[in-house]
Amino acid sequence: MKSVRPSRSASYIGRFAPSPTGPLHLGSLVAAMASYLDAKAHHGTWLVRVEDLDRDRNVAGIDRHILASLQRCGMQWDGEVTWQTQRTHLYDVALEQLLAKGAAYPCSCSRKEIADSQLRLGQSGAGLVYPGTCRNGLAPGKPARAMRLRVPDAPNDTYCFDDRCVGVTCQRLAADVGDFVIRRADGFWAYQLAVVVDDAQQGVTDVVRGADLLDSTPRQLFLQDVLGLPHPEYLHVPVVANADGEKLSKQTGAQAFDTGADPETLVQSALIPAARFLGLDVQADSIAGFWLAAIPAWAAMLTP
Ligand code: GLU
Repeated sequence: MKSVRPSRSASYIGRFAPSPTGPLHLGSLVAAMASYLDAKAHHGTWLVRVEDLDRDRNVAGIDRHILASLQRCGMQWDGEVTWQTQRTHLYDVALEQLLAKGAAYPCSCSRKEIADSQLRLGQSGAGLVYPGTCRNGLAPGKPARAMRLRVPDAPNDTYCFDDRCVGVTCQRLAADVGDFVIRRADGFWAYQLAVVVDDAQQGVTDVVRGADLLDSTPRQLFLQDVLGLPHPEYLHVPVVANADGEKLSKQTGAQAFDTGADPETLVQSALIPAARFLGLDVQADSIAGFWLAAIPAWAAMLTP
């Protein structure tokens, strides 16, 4: 990254929102570091929220491990850490509001049924675009599975936003996504609903995260509109890829960095490489020294 537009927020609140599916590795460290540096460079508040709603993917104890890693790296959060599984009452209220407005509806379709109807319609996009089967009610005798949010019909379905790093980014919600899931068929709250409710409830003004979530952002902005919530500003940073060009993650074999290493090794083996990936040329031999250099380096990248 060469330059990033500064936040316009008068009183900045940022957050890092890890899913507890594996230990911190270079890819997730880059996302944590970017959100931390941006909050610090704006003299803001930095929150940590554990996104543990997908209980099937959670790894026991990894949340504590991630938090300890952040602290060892010198990234201390403000206030209390929050866990999404302790906030489901907030998502219940939001769903009630959406149902009351007719903005959300129950859906009985399985993934296979959606894929089959996509084939029938001759669509072969990368993801499944929901064809709207249950928009006007469930098929007789079919049980409700997921809850979906109604998106505007084409051609009024284009949603654009001005990312602080990527610039203006648009998506056609109906054509590219369709009415999307806000509560999953397995009963778990969907990421899209929870993230919108939490960011608003926690007063988050600036979302800084990996560019793999760029295409979720128009859905989140639209959901904010429907719920009458303010829009945060967004900054999506590049994601670290492995040799095959896949996003670095536990699934693609990312190595957790050795948080047991001594601080100087941690600086050289984790913090400096993550900073370099973000375009920052920082030299340091201690954790404190690293942040003393990295925060002004990030601030210098902020150009209107
Ligand atoms: N929990 C998401 C992840 O770990 C991040 C969500 C977000 O930053 O909005 O990929």
